[in-house]
Amino acid sequence: MRLILLGPPGAGKGTQAKRLEERYGVVQIATGDMLRSEVKSGSAIGREAKAIMERGELVPDSILIGMLSARVKAPDVARGFILDGFPRTVPQAQALDGMLADQALPLDQVIELKVDDAALVDRIAGRLTCAKCGEGFHDRFKAPKVAGVCDVCGSTDFVRRADDRAETVAARLDAYHRQTAPLLPHYAAQGKLQQVDGMAEMDEVTRQLAALLDRKAV
Ligand code: ADP
Ligand code: ZN
Repeated sequence: MRLILLGPPGAGKGTQAKRLEERYGVVQIATGDMLRSEVKSGSAIGREAKAIMERGELVPDSILIGMLSARVKAPDVARGFILDGFPRTVPQAQALDGMLADQALPLDQVIELKVDDAALVDRIAGRLTCAKCGEGFHDRFKAPKVAGVCDVCGSTDFVRRADDRAETVAARLDAYHRQTAPLLPHYAAQGKLQQVDGMAEMDEVTRQLAALLDRKAV
């Protein structure tokens, strides 16, 4: 399975990609996570990306295309992938088309998670993640069962992303509409684009995604 999840920040791409990864045994490739670990390690890429990400803008295509082309060659990608956060611009999509054509690995599907902008701001501004196991939570929509304690691993350490502040969210949405939304017609023209209602409840979104993916697999 080679799948791209498209959709605005906060649409639930990461949550759903993790669920699909387990269900179908293919790896999630989340460029935002890759960049955050570069920032954390203080690498050259991380130093260049940090301020850009904190402003809610996109990191240059050349960096992302380099990172992704190395990542798709790794052995764990042989069975397929779920791309979460890449491509985000038309040049990135064109580069990906080229990489996959070179390796004779066609994309199977591109699925857009559709969510209203108003809902996104609320979703993003309340996000937090367990620092130990990475489980995602939300102050209002998915609070830990015991306040301050991770449901999964019991840790009491949580982190919030530096770019999840309300001020930055508007810039991220703007980048999505200006730079990423043009990918929808790009993939529609290839006959690969389908949509799922990202406003639905999380399990329902997973069910709708699985319905599209299972239908294709038959
Ligand atoms: P979200 O989808 O919630 O905005 P991500 O974790 O996917 O979050 O991305 C966080 C940030 O990382 C983006 O705002 C952007 O600065 C950078 N980034 C991630 N992927 C890309 C990409 N493909 N191209 C450019 N910048 C990217
Ligand atoms: Zn945890």
